[in-house]
Amino acid sequence: MKYQILIVGGGNAGLSTAAKLLRKNPKLQIGIIEPSDKHYYQPAWTLVGGGSYDITDTVRNEADFIPKGAEWIKDAVATFQPEQNTVTTRDGKTIGYEYLVVCPGIQLNWSQVEGLPETLGKNGVCSNYSFQYAPYTFECLQNLKEGTAIFTAPSGAVKCGGAPQKIMYLAADYFRRAGLAGKVKVEFWTAGGVIFGIEKYAKTLRKVVERYGINTHFKHDLIRVNGPAHKATFKVTAPDGSVSEETVHFDMLHVTPPQSAPDFISSSPLANAAGWVDVDKYTLQHNKYPNIFSLGDAAGLPNSRTGAAVRKEAPVLVKNLLAVMAGQMPTAKYSGYSSCPIVTGYGKLMLAEFDYDNKPTETFPFDQSKERWTMWILKRYILPWLYWNKILNGAM
Ligand SMILES: Cc1cc2nc3c(=O)[nH]c(=O)nc-3n(C[C@H](O)[C@H](O)[C@H](O)COP(=O)(O)OP(=O)(O)OC[C@H]3O[C@@H](n4cnc5c(N)ncnc54)[C@H](O)[C@@H]3O)c2cc1C
Repeated sequence: MKYQILIVGGGNAGLSTAAKLLRKNPKLQIGIIEPSDKHYYQPAWTLVGGGSYDITDTVRNEADFIPKGAEWIKDAVATFQPEQNTVTTRDGKTIGYEYLVVCPGIQLNWSQVEGLPETLGKNGVCSNYSFQYAPYTFECLQNLKEGTAIFTAPSGAVKCGGAPQKIMYLAADYFRRAGLAGKVKVEFWTAGGVIFGIEKYAKTLRKVVERYGINTHFKHDLIRVNGPAHKATFKVTAPDGSVSEETVHFDMLHVTPPQSAPDFISSSPLANAAGWVDVDKYTLQHNKYPNIFSLGDAAGLPNSRTGAAVRKEAPVLVKNLLAVMAGQMPTAKYSGYSSCPIVTGYGKLMLAEFDYDNKPTETFPFDQSKERWTMWILKRYILPWLYWNKILNGAM
């Protein structure tokens, strides 16, 4: 079996890239290797956890979104042989290609937090990072009448860096509306050192934190959970670099799991030193193998990993891949654009948009660092519609 273009991963990046390529040239012979029967709209899981979105509306059949003209290989890639232009799958098949697009997403490392896999989905321990458990987040909000609700963020790259905070602000708003503001303490325990990396947006978020009376704990990385005892242990890094542990009580714990490049990528010849697919940050072409490209959460780009980033990466990759196929140089450049629609309460959202230089690159002709109802409508209704109807089919 051999394809002109083989795509690894039929998620947001894989499907939109395949669809865009076929819009440019319907004769291209494209194979998509994707193990899952289901396709998920992950950005809505934040709203599921906040009780504002039905989990069943976030999933569709993968088969319905494989673009006409592409072939779905329902399998998973296990290893790469870039010198031979082949991949080997979990089922033991060897598949050849002329050009390869690698986009299998990011890996969630639940078991890196000791005790977490055993207690996730019970004892008040929840996570919007899982289709299975996102609805339990809202159950936890409804069940909590007093005590401490802790929201964590790990060290290292995660998909949608704003998601750990979005659910925290929804929760704080939920408790406030339920008349529990004085009874439930909301706390943010993060391995990071600041609330947001860009001052324009950080300024607004500091006010939001103050409005809800949220306690923040920076440089605290969750390493252990004892669900039945309701204890969470953090690795604490002091300003002088010394490290210690701190264990605290929780009544509700929303965990953002540690994340990394998928193991089958980091152990492959395609990986850079950090394990991601080693591509040029502007052209998305592999630094060693010119017939390989990558985009999405698995690509080794110093950006913020989001679906919004994929929307700007895909047209660049398509242009450059077609150029290379025609014997030309890849000249299109990805700016590092990413966007983080930060939900700051029910009906409130701040739409952060920025590039590699952390320079705001805003779409709308107003100050996007303000919380707005219109931007909530964008996230709640417009973006999901665009995703299923325009983004996956390559129209935008
Ligand atoms: C809670 C949450 C909130 C988010 N909020 C936002 C938001 O507000 N805005 C935003 O823009 N983004 C948001 N995101 C991020 C967004 O969902 C991702 O950045 C986006 O899906 C990345 O696309 P991708 O194709 O790289 O990865 P994915 O869409 O995750 O797709 C990867 C695909 O690769 C497949 N795969 C895995 N292993 C293999 C293998 N071995 N072989 C072949 N295929 C494989 C998987 O089955 C999957 O279908 C959020 C994510 C989460 C979890």
